[in-house]
Amino acid sequence: MTQPLPPEQHAPEAQRARRLLRLSWVLALLVLAVMWGGVIEGLRQRQSLLSAQQQTQQAEWLRLSSAAVDDRLRNLYKELQLFANDQPSLARDATQLFPLQDGKLWLVDTTRQQPLRGQQPLSAPAAQQVRQWLQSPAVHPALTVLPLPVIDKHPGNSELLQVVLPLCDLQRCHSALTGFLRVSELLDPEQLVDHPAYAVLDINGSVLASNGSMDFNGHNLTQVATTRLSQVPLLLAANYRSSQIIRSFNLFALSLLGVALVLSCLLLLLMWRISQILLHVEHSSSQFSHAQQLLALTNSSLRDKMRTLIDEQRDQQTLIETVQVGVLIVDAGELSILTSNDAAARMLGMSRQMLQRQTLPALFHNPQRCEELLAVLQEQQIVTDREAQLNNHNHKVCWSMTSMRYLQFRERHAIAVSLIDITERIAHAQRLQDEKQATERALAQLQATQHELYQRATLDDLTGLANRRHFLSFAGKALERARLADDTVAVALIDLDHFKNINDRYGHAAGDAALQHFASNLRTALPNSAMAGRMGGEEFALLLPDTSLGEAHAIVDVLRNGIAAQSFHTDGQLLQLTFSAGVAASRNGHTHDLSELLKQADKALYRAKANGRNCVESIAP
Ligand code: GH3
Ligand code: MG
Ligand code: MG
Repeated sequence: MTQPLPPEQHAPEAQRARRLLRLSWVLALLVLAVMWGGVIEGLRQRQSLLSAQQQTQQAEWLRLSSAAVDDRLRNLYKELQLFANDQPSLARDATQLFPLQDGKLWLVDTTRQQPLRGQQPLSAPAAQQVRQWLQSPAVHPALTVLPLPVIDKHPGNSELLQVVLPLCDLQRCHSALTGFLRVSELLDPEQLVDHPAYAVLDINGSVLASNGSMDFNGHNLTQVATTRLSQVPLLLAANYRSSQIIRSFNLFALSLLGVALVLSCLLLLLMWRISQILLHVEHSSSQFSHAQQLLALTNSSLRDKMRTLIDEQRDQQTLIETVQVGVLIVDAGELSILTSNDAAARMLGMSRQMLQRQTLPALFHNPQRCEELLAVLQEQQIVTDREAQLNNHNHKVCWSMTSMRYLQFRERHAIAVSLIDITERIAHAQRLQDEKQATERALAQLQATQHELYQRATLDDLTGLANRRHFLSFAGKALERARLADDTVAVALIDLDHFKNINDRYGHAAGDAALQHFASNLRTALPNSAMAGRMGGEEFALLLPDTSLGEAHAIVDVLRNGIAAQSFHTDGQLLQLTFSAGVAASRNGHTHDLSELLKQADKALYRAKANGRNCVESIAP
């Protein structure tokens, strides 16, 4: 909430607004005073102007009226003179004088109330009108067209006119028309008489006719008439009305006062509005001043924060530019490159400007791979560490560990693509794979060599049986195991009979073939647990684990029979072999020494040879 400021801390704008407000009120009051002074002065001047105008107008009116009435009376006078000269008798008898609508006079005998002699009879409407006039003389509209000479103004009333109308020469006329008239409206001489009062007198002053209101401002017609005819006036009293001018003045004054009042109200309203605005300005200025102070207080801390933010932004920019991870911002719809960092440009072998003219699929060595990654992105909203080969502008192989995710970039739906250069890693892995394959090949070769060496070391080349050394080694270990297990092991020594003869007779190769034939028979005929070895020349040895002497003797004898029963072909020759064998066996807890067993077997063999060959001998331990 805004705290009110002490007066000394009010903003200069607020003080200015207050001064302006005071000045405005002073000016407004001044304007009001001047305006109302002007109004009063205008009314006063207008009044005096109207008075002067009224006097001038009245004088002019009197002048015009007098002149016009004079003209009319002159004409009438001439007409009456002519009439009196021509018709003296008629003039004498005339008691009523009526002007007709065509401007001519009509004389009526009041006693008979009919037209005088020599005149045309009245038409029925005119006669009816005359009768109405005579019966009700108070209003005689015809007199409105009767021109009357203006004699003088009435001494006591400037608005009264005194008019005398002699009908004829005084010496010659016996009758005269005279009287008083009061005219209420005399602005236009054509409308002299609006509501007249009149009297018609004879030459002696006797009243011939009147409207009954004979007393005008103290003048008695009868009394006047008794003096002299020349002094009997026909008074025409005209009441000049200044109401028109007064009405116009009143209208003017009312309008002026109304306008002044409206202007005053408007000015006061304007001042009230200005006061409100200036008070609002003052309030706003105070608040603004307070806000300015708050801003000044927080400005330094904001500046510090801004500086920190700028530093952080610069650091982040530096990180982005120096990091080895390539970053591309790609439009999600058009797949055009919006921006990139230096690492991405380095990886792809082109400048950042060139890069921003590319599209994302064009950067992939295989655009199909790009489509796969975009499909994964669309489905899972993120792509993490997928290998892809990119197109390097310098025609180098470039592999990237690619990740993608969506983001908003410059109010656009975009994809952030991060590229980690794994070209070296891929090459290294490839080298490792090659080396592994080479090693595996070498190992296989080594194993083959080892096997071959083992074969060579342990097997007899010609027969494939164990050689002497391997047989002795194997048989020694077997005897040791048998000793520990307290088992019986049998050993047999076999010597082919008269083998020297085969060599001699069929050749050494035939001898070799015979040896191989015999070895093959050994392998197929012996049980799996038995082991055969070539001890040298045409001598063989058998090791029969877990076999008693009798069992061993039987096995060897079966073998002997089998060999002896079959013949074989070699080099076109049919050959037959026999052998002699000596068998020996260990017993439980005795004679597990191999050399001892072999000696006993050899003894038995010797005995078999001695017994005629093609037989098996055994020696019990
Ligand atoms: P006996 O019945 O007494 O054993 O008569 P024998 O001829 O078999 O005995 P002798 O020991 O006198 O002859 C063995 C012959 O075996 C001598 C040698 O030429 C022959 N011989 C030894 N080793 C081989 C060999 O690897 N190949 C061939 N073809 N002959 C061999
Ligand atoms: Mg021999
Ligand atoms: Mg022999």
